[in-house]
Amino acid sequence: MTTLEKIKKYAMPNFGERDFVVSRGKGCALFDDKGKKYIDFGAGIAVASIGHANARWVRAVAKQAAEIAHCSNLYVTKPNADLCEALVKRIGAGKVFVCNSGTEANEALIKAARLYGAKVAGEGKKFRILTARDGFHGRTLGAVAATAQAKIQHGFEPLLEGFSYGNFNDLASFEDLMGDDVAAILVEPVQGESGVTPATAGFLKGLKKLARKHKALLLFDEVQCGFGRSGEFLACQRYGVKPDGVSMAKGLGGSFPIGAVWLSRPVQDIFTPGTHGTTFGGNPLACAAALATIAELDSKKLCANAKAMGEYLDSKLKAVAARHAGKIKLTRGLGLMRAVLFCDGYKNTDVCARLRKNGLILIPAGANALRFLPPLNIKKSDVDAAVKIFDKTVSEL
Ligand SMILES: *Cc1c(COP(=O)(O)O)cnc(C)c1O
Repeated sequence: MTTLEKIKKYAMPNFGERDFVVSRGKGCALFDDKGKKYIDFGAGIAVASIGHANARWVRAVAKQAAEIAHCSNLYVTKPNADLCEALVKRIGAGKVFVCNSGTEANEALIKAARLYGAKVAGEGKKFRILTARDGFHGRTLGAVAATAQAKIQHGFEPLLEGFSYGNFNDLASFEDLMGDDVAAILVEPVQGESGVTPATAGFLKGLKKLARKHKALLLFDEVQCGFGRSGEFLACQRYGVKPDGVSMAKGLGGSFPIGAVWLSRPVQDIFTPGTHGTTFGGNPLACAAALATIAELDSKKLCANAKAMGEYLDSKLKAVAARHAGKIKLTRGLGLMRAVLFCDGYKNTDVCARLRKNGLILIPAGANALRFLPPLNIKKSDVDAAVKIFDKTVSEL
């Protein structure tokens, strides 16, 4: 039986039809099981932030695996302590909880918001959470309730209570929903899954004011846009808006599954023993992978590289869009989180398949878009090579 036949027979069909078997990667190159090379500007959905098989990362993961990979949170390990310190140093005064994925990080934020609301207003009085339409926060049931998209929520009703949805970049719609019963506002500074829409600075600053006025927490989901991708360590730092809590995952482990939550000093101790936990979260192997990724980010100045390469990529994509005005509607994004939106009549998933045939990997997103989420250490020549394939492929449409 081939690998594809086996997957079809034994793996659940969550992910639709797939026809591509990956065998290895190096930097922003990916190879399939027949040895064909692709330029990977998807990075496993913004996960391989320092490229595939990065030498520092491979050394760190192998070394830690040979020492101790897991011991549970009944005990303490140095990599876990070092990672919490590293995140606090980059984000601000506060504390960190380490988990395993983006949706788990958001569940922790949701639970923290509920505890905070009960603490300041009494149980059952301040529990609502406002989120934005077309946001994406994950696939567990709390995160599904936070994700205001019919395609994510359909079939799972009744959903967790207490969520209300405003429109992204429409402050007035959040003001309409706001009240003293709101415990938190949770948004992505750059909406990723729905097509890479950056927030306006006015929107994020307005949400902060609104949250302050009603003693609610301002929480940012930086699972996709965080960890250097925006050009700063966190996207909210590019906007100059400091939240009360942040969720991270995707790029944090440089390909190793890990998530994390940061809470600011006034709420950093909201979780007390017994209120929240995890068996795998914060294990030394995942933390060593994240520490190696942060070390690579620092030593190679990858936030600055993401900003510069992001602008370079954007200028090249704008030129392609201008050449194919009837096919590409617009381009948008921030740092190395970019998207092109296709005109009606051109389907993003079809374009994606054709791009792969030509040797370029991109990621479809809602709104008929394709996302460019390359590793943060790409060079100009990588952008040139990717855009050349992209331009050629759009010409063929
Ligand atoms: C991917 C994503 C999540 C979910 O992360 P998982 O690791 O898949 O659970 C949550 N929020 C945002 C913004 C994401 O992009």
